Amino acid sequence: MAASQLKEALDTLKESGVRITPQRHAILQYLIDTKSHPTADEIYKALEGKFPNMSVATVYNNLRVFREVGLVKELTYGDASSRFDFATHEHYHAICESCGKIVDFQYPGLDEVEQFASHMTGYKVSHHRLEVYGICPECAKKESH
Ligand SMILES: [Zn+2]
Ligand SMILES: [Zn+2]
Repeated sequence: MAASQLKEALDTLKESGVRITPQRHAILQYLIDTKSHPTADEIYKALEGKFPNMSVATVYNNLRVFREVGLVKELTYGDASSRFDFATHEHYHAICESCGKIVDFQYPGLDEVEQFASHMTGYKVSHHRLEVYGICPECAKKESH
């Protein structure tokens, strides 16, 4: 699964004329493997051992390239630093209010909301996002002890 996702992503880069550097390859791999919606800083820390010449700015630039070709979504929540999500398929997020962990879930049918909102407001709706908030199983376990 992860391997085919990576291959698909690399194909998308190729088709978009984006050069595949070892760093870009590693960042994509990390995003696909961790599924943790990391910040650029977390990606940098995870990969700096492998790429001593890489800076956080380089990571950001690469993430921007991925975002432009639609491989990655940038998630912003208030003042916290952006998190990055490997997101070639539409999905929603459950966010832990205690530790901040973000988990993906699929839910069909919310495209109707866009049509409804457009009808009600006159906006040309481009997209929507949905987050549910609560306490993740790990944090719930800690709290009950
Ligand atoms: Zn939690
Ligand atoms: Zn996600």
